[in-house]
Amino acid sequence: MEHGAHGEGGGKGRRRERAVEPAAAQNERPVAEESQDPMELAIQLAKRSARQGGGPFGAVVVQDGVILASGANAVAVSSDPTAHAEIVAIRAAARVLGTHDLSGCEIFSSCEPCPMCLGAIYWARIKRVWYACDREDAAAAGFEDEFFYDELARKPSKRRIPMQRVLRKKGLKAFQIWLANPDRQTY
Ligand SMILES: [Zn+2]
Repeated sequence: MEHGAHGEGGGKGRRRERAVEPAAAQNERPVAEESQDPMELAIQLAKRSARQGGGPFGAVVVQDGVILASGANAVAVSSDPTAHAEIVAIRAAARVLGTHDLSGCEIFSSCEPCPMCLGAIYWARIKRVWYACDREDAAAAGFEDEFFYDELARKPSKRRIPMQRVLRKKGLKAFQIWLANPDRQTY
């Protein structure tokens, strides 16, 4: 299947299907001799994105040794600050599998995931992360991953972005409704 095509849901990952965000797909062309090695492919995607003026990041989600989905950074092309390569690949893999639970999957990223993507990886229950470059390499290229990691380690009152609590009692009502709902879908 040509890269950039959407994997159909229900494939259960036995076929080599790829899926990417629609906005990114519009600007994608097939990678010449696309690697079947997940990390090699992640790096290919990162290089292609960089050549096209996009963020130099690529990611691939694998299940049982089969490539399920891939993604390149699409922040600028889709005007989406959350469209990091790992997020794009996770969303595509979840569509392929038809579930938010990627607990059987591994992710290969051309760079150590930033805190946002690492959070998404935990939420998706991905079992292992492989990465090529690290946060210091990203910092040398002008990306603030390391600063964000430093910020997370600070107390909320010490962060650059002010964080203030208001209306806690009213906010708790949503949890009360959640806990009282026997049909709630846990994730
Ligand atoms: Zn990220």
